[in-house]
Amino acid sequence: MHVAVLGAGVTGISTAWFLSQQGHEVTVFERNDSVASGTSFANAGQLAYSYVDAMANPEFVARIPRIVASRDPGSRFSWRAGFDFSGWIMRFLKQSTARRAGKNTLALLPVAMKSAALMRELRDTLSLDFDFRSHGKLVMLRSAGEIENAQRIADMKREHGCETEIVSIEQATVLEPALSQMEGGYTAAIFAPGDHLGDAAKFSIALAEVLQRNYAVTFRMREAIEQIKTRHDSIEAIKTIHDEVPVDAAVACLGVWSDELLWPLRIRTHICPIRGYSMTLPIGPHTPTLSVTDPQQRVVFSRLGQRVRIAGFADFVGFDTAGDRDRTGLLQEVAHRTAPHAADYEASRRHRWGGFRPMTPTGFPLVGPTKIRGLYLNTGHGSLGWTLALATAEQVAADVSRGGS
Ligand SMILES: Cc1cc2nc3c(=O)[nH]c(=O)nc-3n(C[C@H](O)[C@H](O)[C@H](O)COP(=O)(O)OP(=O)(O)OC[C@H]3O[C@@H](n4cnc5c(N)ncnc54)[C@H](O)[C@@H]3O)c2cc1C
Repeated sequence: MHVAVLGAGVTGISTAWFLSQQGHEVTVFERNDSVASGTSFANAGQLAYSYVDAMANPEFVARIPRIVASRDPGSRFSWRAGFDFSGWIMRFLKQSTARRAGKNTLALLPVAMKSAALMRELRDTLSLDFDFRSHGKLVMLRSAGEIENAQRIADMKREHGCETEIVSIEQATVLEPALSQMEGGYTAAIFAPGDHLGDAAKFSIALAEVLQRNYAVTFRMREAIEQIKTRHDSIEAIKTIHDEVPVDAAVACLGVWSDELLWPLRIRTHICPIRGYSMTLPIGPHTPTLSVTDPQQRVVFSRLGQRVRIAGFADFVGFDTAGDRDRTGLLQEVAHRTAPHAADYEASRRHRWGGFRPMTPTGFPLVGPTKIRGLYLNTGHGSLGWTLALATAEQVAADVSRGGS
């Protein structure tokens, strides 16, 4: 079949990979001039296979009044967002009970573990350079309440085969000596030895090159899609600014922009853009080797080769990017205060970035067929698109092959 992949982020490129492996003729459509130029561009780089905790949970709900009152530095909310949060928030709140949060987290675990296995296979098959590191991950904890909650979730995950444990700050410092140079006031940590790091954009670009060179996948870059054309409830063609391309099937990997093309077909994704930021700097004298997350401050330190990416914050500001300068400034301040030696903060070579996490109310991505025959989704990966990309791509490619045109 001729299958269109709509969007060249990490989920689109991963989807193109599995479709090509199943013998389909694949065309990738992307409106920007490079692969991974959307949310996949400078994310935190964590392959957080064990840290798939649903964002909709009682602890997050308890923070909402502070967020709305602008008293939570890790999250901002704007009434003037130009995005209708009301329907999304109602759905999100429904998912926020302890029972639902547990259920949603456990539903994602096998997908993440599948992704880890597929990443192992892919790295054995292709030698892609994307600053991969397999040292594990630490999530830092402070209060007794946080530790108790983390212990409960770790126990639940372990019952489902996920390797994760709570360690004291002394044990954590043995695992990651750079913690001794951090000022976080931490008392314990969640340790996940099976979590990895890698640059999602470098991965996507390298895999796209392999697809183009060895598997005859066509990339139509700088070609914005205007419409997914259908006939008698079946997909017919992809209409772009330049052309109309007949296809047998298409997979929408459009992240936060999914509704622009799907809503005219009356397919509603309920994806909310949640803005986050990153800074990429040269490493410092004490850059952590493991990925280190401070969940209270919503900041993560990820070493990628000779660079360190500091990422974080979760802002409910719709598609508004006016606050980016302030927010990346604050991110730098928080990071510098918490880990003064983790990066060369004075370097002139620094890159600041903002991206939109495509978040569904459950945190679970939308993967599989739609009511339009031949049209499939692989979108809405929220904070975990890099982590889950391979598993959801493999799943949707199998759906396409089974479903026919
Ligand atoms: C600050 C931050 C930190 C993060 N950290 C992590 C992390 O550590 N680990 C993790 O797993 N995830 C992380 N994420 C989430 C992850 O980055 C996303 O889930 C993932 O990048 C989504 O990928 P995607 O391919 O679905 O979307 P995108 O990368 O946004 O790709 C969608 C593509 O579709 C294209 N497109 C849209 N509309 C059209 C159109 N009409 N025509 C043509 N092309 C179109 C866009 O240009 C874009 O290239 C983070 C996100 C942020 C913001």
